[in-house]
Amino acid sequence: MKIWLLTLLSVLIVSLISLIGIIFLAIKKDLLKRLQLVLVALATGGLLGGAFFHLLPEAFESFNNSMLASLMLTLGFLLFFILERFLHWHHNHTSGISENAIKPFGTVNLVADMFHNFLDGLLIAAAFTYSTEIGLATTLAVFFHELPQEIGDFGVLIHAGFSRKKALIFNFLSACTAFLGAIMVLVLGNNVANIEKYILSFSAGGFIYLAAADLIPELHNEKTPSRSLVQFIALLTGLGLLFGLSLILE
Ligand SMILES: [Zn+2]
Ligand SMILES: [Zn+2]
Repeated sequence: MKIWLLTLLSVLIVSLISLIGIIFLAIKKDLLKRLQLVLVALATGGLLGGAFFHLLPEAFESFNNSMLASLMLTLGFLLFFILERFLHWHHNHTSGISENAIKPFGTVNLVADMFHNFLDGLLIAAAFTYSTEIGLATTLAVFFHELPQEIGDFGVLIHAGFSRKKALIFNFLSACTAFLGAIMVLVLGNNVANIEKYILSFSAGGFIYLAAADLIPELHNEKTPSRSLVQFIALLTGLGLLFGLSLILE
């Protein structure tokens, strides 16, 4: 009972971070437009840092066979590519009808986000079934990586054509998959730990795809050298935050 309560409360707290985009509701529309690509750069750094400094080291450690980890990573990368292929077909069919259709990478971001948050929920619950201390430490780790991640998510959704309100709602909904992951562990017990490593490397593949194939090309749309520099600093900030977090967690 105590495990359920602690887990669900922790998951609720980290899920609420997805609403952090609220801070951007107050600012002027054209300022947000100028900030947009900086936020996309932050998201890019967050995704790559998450994949390279957290998910992959963890996955390679849990698989006895490191080739299996690499294969799952490739599978994640490919499935996100296929998902986007379909979205582009769909997009081309509908974009003639409505002018402000959502760009495919917005949907790719939401799907990757759903996997990400599902995994976070799963990790938090698994940690609490182990011990309260480890549960709290995991919650803290998730809390701190979610801050740059969710700010970045909001920017990516806005950049993809979502209105601010819609970006907030969809980002929150995608965060709710954390409850799904947590409840799965609470109901099925730690057997779920066996599939955890697969989801770790699979999501890493998705993150790398989204960052490298979708977001970085968007960043190249910025032609001004000074703004490109600001973007690069934002990207490094995302990477640096996740690297720092991995050092603290060691
Ligand atoms: Zn997370
Ligand atoms: Zn999100």
